[in-house]
Amino acid sequence: MGKRKFKAESKRLLDLMINSIYSQREVFLRELISNASDAIDKIYYRALTDENLSFNQSDYYIKIIPNKETRSLTLIDTGIGMTQEELEKNLGTIAKSGSFNFKSENEVKDGHDIIGQFGVGFYAAFMVADVVTVKSKALGSDEAFKWESKGSDGYTIEPTEKETVGTEITLKLKENEDDENFEEYLQEYRLKEIIKKYSDFIRYPIKMDVTKSKKEEDSDDYVEYMEEETINSMVPIWRKNKSELSDEDYENFYHEKRYGFDKPLKHIHANVDGTIRYNAILFIPENRPFDYYSQDYEKGLELYSNGVLIMERCADLVPDHFSFVKGLVDSEDLSLNISREMLQHDRQLKLIAKNINKKIKSQLLSLQRDEREKYEQFYHAFGRQLKFGVYNEFGANKDVLKDLLMFYSSKENKLVTLAEYVSRMPEEQKYIYYATGESIERIEKLPQTELVADKGFEILYFTEEIDEFAIRVLMNYEEKEFKSVSSNDLGIESEDEKASETEASENKELFAYMKEQLGGKVKEVRISKRLKSHPVCLTAEGEISIEMEKVINAMPD
Ligand code: ADP
Ligand code: MG
Repeated sequence: MGKRKFKAESKRLLDLMINSIYSQREVFLRELISNASDAIDKIYYRALTDENLSFNQSDYYIKIIPNKETRSLTLIDTGIGMTQEELEKNLGTIAKSGSFNFKSENEVKDGHDIIGQFGVGFYAAFMVADVVTVKSKALGSDEAFKWESKGSDGYTIEPTEKETVGTEITLKLKENEDDENFEEYLQEYRLKEIIKKYSDFIRYPIKMDVTKSKKEEDSDDYVEYMEEETINSMVPIWRKNKSELSDEDYENFYHEKRYGFDKPLKHIHANVDGTIRYNAILFIPENRPFDYYSQDYEKGLELYSNGVLIMERCADLVPDHFSFVKGLVDSEDLSLNISREMLQHDRQLKLIAKNINKKIKSQLLSLQRDEREKYEQFYHAFGRQLKFGVYNEFGANKDVLKDLLMFYSSKENKLVTLAEYVSRMPEEQKYIYYATGESIERIEKLPQTELVADKGFEILYFTEEIDEFAIRVLMNYEEKEFKSVSSNDLGIESEDEKASETEASENKELFAYMKEQLGGKVKEVRISKRLKSHPVCLTAEGEISIEMEKVINAMPD
């Protein structure tokens, strides 16, 4: 059979593909493994619907064989195989996905998902190979065929010998270029690394012969030998049942995934099966990453589609206010774009993100309720981010976050929630009082706190600049407004209001003199009932405190 040309569009697409669709060459292996896995899924699906066919799990696998002598990499699968026509149709026309047709013809239902749907993945092989050979024998056929191509100039198909049903793909790796050494794809450790990274949770075993060494008997020498090993872990931890898993399993996973060097403070394992289906494992780290509050920190979760890694850091899955959360999401319901590097529609993603936002919130609330010490530890590490979250986006997230906030309390000498504060408020107390300052010690000495404290009212101490900005956005909590202790009107009834009026008029001249001496730095000097042990204090005119004014004045215009 003579050489056939790719369809014209295919030729252009192939060049485009090789040069620009994928950002990393190593994904060629992910694509070929996904195809092999799809092919096994198909034979499994046939077995389900055809009584004459049985499916014995152990007969189905993918094998990777690097060969340094021939500079080639071979992938064998025991999947459904391809007939001559199928080789022609599926590999001869780019963007013709046999898996897509299989899906629509057979109405593949839940649990038998086939990853392929674009019909370009196969050509990723040409990113690393200059010759690709596919030998295949289809289920139910006794002939095998060989498809071969050197890239964009076309392909040949001819009969070949192959005993078993399935497909064998051999990549003749490209010659090394200045900056690229294609031999890396023959290195055991590199292949393992790529398989682990992208295809760890493919349902079928991905096998490879790996070099092992053992000590020789009666000698100190080690001998090397080859042994077949299954590289992938197959069942992802997030598909397992929560009850099968221990805290240690989650902790190991956290470290395996290099989410952090610390221990996770809490894990969240979600198996959601509703309008949108996904599995997720999320972690709240114990420590703040060193670059957390810097520009360098990148939030995001890993995104898997049906066990195959699509994105290492999908930022859209976590809101900024929970940017400290690490972990992954796996969903079967994502529509991916051609390179699987982006999502086509973000509707599903938005739904998942919304769901995750809620999950994290409720888990943090339960931590706050049931494991207060741990919550405080979390809050010390990431509380500031929650307060920024209240303030940012014009307060769009304030309702999600308000119950997660904590502030130091004058009464409890520890962090308290707003709910706790409000629940303790005496009836005559109108406002939630707060005082701002650099540190708790400094705030304690503020003269402005005296009257409020003297009334027995609790004061929240704000020591971070963001605190007051956040509660200004919040405005109130359970209809109780926030009030700075340095505010002009504290809303506290004073019995001798009258007396102070006469006192004020008696001292009018003195106050006028004081104001003049201060050279316009104060707006008014007046008598006050709020002081006990201090002779004088500053109060603010408007609703914001002096501290907040300082911050605002320091902001660049
Ligand atoms: P997709 O997987 O998106 O359909 P690919 O370019 O990766 O597109 O593959 C094209 C088609 O070739 C697949 O849909 C499938 O029908 C066929 N194919 C590729 N690899 C194999 C294989 N190992 N076994 C059987 N069929 C395969
Ligand atoms: Mg594919």
